[in-house]
Amino acid sequence: LAACSGGGAGSGDGDTDATAGGGETAAAEGGLIGVSMPTETSERWIADGAAVEDGLTEAGYEVSLQFAGDDIPTQSQQIDQMITQGVDLLIIAAIDGTALSGQLQAAADAGIPVISYDRLIRDSENVDFYVTFDNEEVGVQQATSLLVGLGILNEDGSEGDATGPFNIELFAGSLDDNNAHFFWKGAIDTLQPYIDEGTLVVKSGQTDIEQAATLRWSQETAQKRMEDLLTAAYGDGSQVDGVLSPFDGISRGIITALQNAGYGPGIDDGMPIVSGQDAEIASVKLIADGVQFATIFKDTRKLADQAVVTAEAYLAGEEPEANDTETYDNGVKVVPSFLLESDIVYADNIQPLLVDSGYYTAEQVESGQ
Ligand code: BGC
Repeated sequence: LAACSGGGAGSGDGDTDATAGGGETAAAEGGLIGVSMPTETSERWIADGAAVEDGLTEAGYEVSLQFAGDDIPTQSQQIDQMITQGVDLLIIAAIDGTALSGQLQAAADAGIPVISYDRLIRDSENVDFYVTFDNEEVGVQQATSLLVGLGILNEDGSEGDATGPFNIELFAGSLDDNNAHFFWKGAIDTLQPYIDEGTLVVKSGQTDIEQAATLRWSQETAQKRMEDLLTAAYGDGSQVDGVLSPFDGISRGIITALQNAGYGPGIDDGMPIVSGQDAEIASVKLIADGVQFATIFKDTRKLADQAVVTAEAYLAGEEPEANDTETYDNGVKVVPSFLLESDIVYADNIQPLLVDSGYYTAEQVESGQ
């Protein structure tokens, strides 16, 4: 689909034919960087792509940015092309974390460093570095927001008044995305004690990640599964109280299914507590309007900056700085990583987290666009 090329427009440094750098002075920088993003169906990846492209362009590089339409062969092909084009470095957010071994081998053979972006690329030794958020902590935060919404915990982490039992349902992300497993682990470890003591009840009994998974993080798939859960487990007149959702698109599918079944429209009228991730603008509006309870904000500007800093280090022949060298075993090796922190967004902190930081304008939150 949209293939934007940064092209270093207007940098005017007389670097006429420098693309694949090599041998120029450090000041000439130069170099072509391939940036492969999974999809444009979720706005976070569009923001990531734009922020990485801007950061690299500002740092003096040319950029080949491609989105793969959530199609694995397309992503493989786009990366093949980048290698043929002579990129000096690759930044990749993979659709399927295990599907790129051939491309990565070709990159390694050509001496091209590979930075795994947000999602870990698995089963290949040819992954040099990983920039991401603390994904397990994201899962902890998702579960925590669910507990806060139900009143089991307070926002400050202290114990709340509610004792339940509450009926909940669990959703996971796409199993071919390594992150989905980290989000799930963080969330389930947080919820399990409450499930064990009976405060939380997964009424459908669907407590395995395989049952909870949502291929390609699809909103429609999530809506359909929520409809099926309502039919199968809540036909007896019982109510859902909360839903663990790992991504705002999935959250909106769940909310639509619930509203169609007569819940809500808002939390005040019985909409269950639904978590999320990415602070997508449509979900931020739903949170402001009291429909979705919370989301997790991962500042894509910071991740993009980290990717740029890491790329610059490689291209200067230096080792990039890692802050975690233990967590992310990709099946072949532990990939040195730089992990960033995320925040829980509730209705009452949209302003400081998202507006005051310049991530969204107040008008965007108001309109949801
Ligand atoms: C990302 C999440 C995102 C999900 C769906 C994950 O790999 O870490 O931020 O919600 O993909 O796009």
